[in-house]
Amino acid sequence: MSLLRFKVVNEAIKRKAVVVNAPEGRPCDYFGHNVFNNEKMLKYLPKKCYEELRNTIENGTPLNPETADVIAEGMKKWATELGVTHYTHWFQPLTGGTAEKHDSFIDPDGKGGVLEEFSGKLLIQQEPDASSFPSGGIRNTFEARGYSAWDPTSPAFVVDDTLCIPTIFISYTGEMLDYKAPLLKAIEVVDKAATEVCHYFDPKVSKVSSYLGWEQEYFLVDEALWSARPDMMLTGRTLMGHESAKNQQLEDHYFGSIPTRVVAFMKDLEYESLKLGIPVKTRHNEVAPNQFELAPVFEEINIANDHNILLMSVMKKVARRHYFRLILHEKPFKGVNGSGKHNNWSLGTNTGVNLLSPGKTAKDKLQFITFLVNVTRAVWKHNGLLKASISSATNAHRLGANEAPPAIISTFLGTQISNVLDEIENSKNNTDIKMDGKQSMKFSISHVPELLRDNTDRNRTSPFAFTGNRFEFRAVGSSANCAAAMIALNTAVAEQLLLFKKEVDKKLKAGTKTEDAILDTLRVYIKETKAIRFDGNGYSDEWKKEAQKRGLDCEISVPLIFDRLIAKETVKMYADTGVLSEKELHARAEVEWETYTKKIQIEARILGDMALNHIIPVASRYQESLLDKIDKIQRVFPAAKVKSLAKSDLDTVEEISDHINKIRVLTAKMVDARKVANKITSEREKAIVYHDSVAVLFDDIRYHIDKLELSVDNEMWPLPKYRELLFIR
Ligand code: ADP
Ligand code: MG
Repeated sequence: MSLLRFKVVNEAIKRKAVVVNAPEGRPCDYFGHNVFNNEKMLKYLPKKCYEELRNTIENGTPLNPETADVIAEGMKKWATELGVTHYTHWFQPLTGGTAEKHDSFIDPDGKGGVLEEFSGKLLIQQEPDASSFPSGGIRNTFEARGYSAWDPTSPAFVVDDTLCIPTIFISYTGEMLDYKAPLLKAIEVVDKAATEVCHYFDPKVSKVSSYLGWEQEYFLVDEALWSARPDMMLTGRTLMGHESAKNQQLEDHYFGSIPTRVVAFMKDLEYESLKLGIPVKTRHNEVAPNQFELAPVFEEINIANDHNILLMSVMKKVARRHYFRLILHEKPFKGVNGSGKHNNWSLGTNTGVNLLSPGKTAKDKLQFITFLVNVTRAVWKHNGLLKASISSATNAHRLGANEAPPAIISTFLGTQISNVLDEIENSKNNTDIKMDGKQSMKFSISHVPELLRDNTDRNRTSPFAFTGNRFEFRAVGSSANCAAAMIALNTAVAEQLLLFKKEVDKKLKAGTKTEDAILDTLRVYIKETKAIRFDGNGYSDEWKKEAQKRGLDCEISVPLIFDRLIAKETVKMYADTGVLSEKELHARAEVEWETYTKKIQIEARILGDMALNHIIPVASRYQESLLDKIDKIQRVFPAAKVKSLAKSDLDTVEEISDHINKIRVLTAKMVDARKVANKITSEREKAIVYHDSVAVLFDDIRYHIDKLELSVDNEMWPLPKYRELLFIR
């Protein structure tokens, strides 16, 4: 066995768990060790300055420059005690991931030496030359500057020797070029709108926070095997590979015992995450072999999202210490489940009430139903936009496949909640709907909390499910920045709550009682938004037909799904709430189309290269060995016997030729299609052509390659096979 494949398989098989040093102390001792959190602020900042900063964090009051200088000094002192020498503004460009440019603290002292300096100015703002970050045409090359500006609501943290300062990223002319800036706005608008609505129930509410608890799924593949797969290295997924005889059909991996190498990795990762203040809590095997999940305790969205982005980079780094590569692609392997990132989302008041939790008193219940129905209406109205917010070239492989929600957004509310809504809808007058907790009630809302506690009818196929005290947006991709989905959701809910308040206030002005005004408005909404409620099997074909009839967005082409980002109702929603301007929306759509094209382009190139340079030569060599054998049969045996003796080899030779020819023809067609597409200047049109005439060929090419994998001598096959990639750990 001479091949690289066998070398790496051997390496992977022999690998033992990496022993990592046990953490010093208990989690509560090292949690947040690398974070400039409240405890550090108290310790390193003068009292007045600390109070000013808290005021900024909690109430958004601007910081004055002198205070910023003092904060920077305190931060530097803390960081240098940890051995830090550099700092960076850490931001989230539209490419995904994070960007950072490290500068050291050193500053010449004018006398031939250096000082270590970090000023308020450097903390608050930087001008990274950011011309190569995507901007959807907002920044011209001659105006390449962008600003990064400190987000004091998310604490600074230390990675290696660098102090990382979470920042937003905007263009010279003020447009937002990242995920964080619009997320902060979306958080604010939903806070304002929801607080106003809360006042119908409790005038003491002064702030509503939105919360996110993400569940990160991922795959681990041995580093040696990964390095023998150019497709995984460059696209994050396998572009070819015949399914393994055993994959997930026995369902023996899900919640099974975690392999020792992986446990060592997880412990290491959890330690690193906790030091960074990421409250990781849950770890388990997922459905597919070599697939795992990690989930933290939910947090305020901005922090939760920073933590997810940070975690994605930390987990990749830690995986390498364990000779794994960590795969965040939504569909790295055909035939087994892909990875998602469920976004558990809720709203909560500063008085400690979860607005999506049914509550005990009659008032609480009405408040709960109010928020539930308004969220449902927001999802109904903007279902196309929500789909666009989670769509990408990579997530497209997962959605609509039979283990993930379809490319149609609907909500699952469960039987109890649906009954409550039906009751409101069908009651002739509101006095039938008594919500006093004590009396025996016609209205089942009084039983809601008890019933919901074991609300086990969890629908796994729904992309947007109510799960007892929160909504779970399940269609989000494992590699995505959650902010994209959260910006759309928060803004849609904010728009809806503003509308609701307007309608209720109109009724109140006309003399209607509060409860009646609310119930009358909700009744209309419940009727109107029925189309979005679906408790059945989201994976079925019937649902696709039904959804079409209901007028839900059923588009499946990713470039066309992105049209929703600039649709009339989207532009209006973002303009009315002030979260994103039309110009910014167009820029974001451009970036999406461009990124889509680039991803497909890269895959097409690698697929072509592997087909022509890795697969066809090997298949031809095997064919040649068969022809040799046939030749020898002819020489050794009498002609009468040759036919039967050589038959199966002749058939195989023909079969291989057939696959090789088809691969050549399809690959040439793909190259031609790319050439045509590359001449198109409109990003939208180009993405459409890449989708319609380049990406469509991938599966056909793969089909013939995977067939060859079954006929060609195992000892010659150059690429690690699925059974090796997925079962060695
Ligand atoms: P599942 O049963 O869906 O796999 P997990 O325990 O893996 O649940 O993850 C659930 C996630 O939802 C966790 O991050 C958890 O903190 C979060 N979560 C729980 N309650 C809320 C809430 N009210 N708002 C937002 N997220 C929540
Ligand atoms: Mg979940």
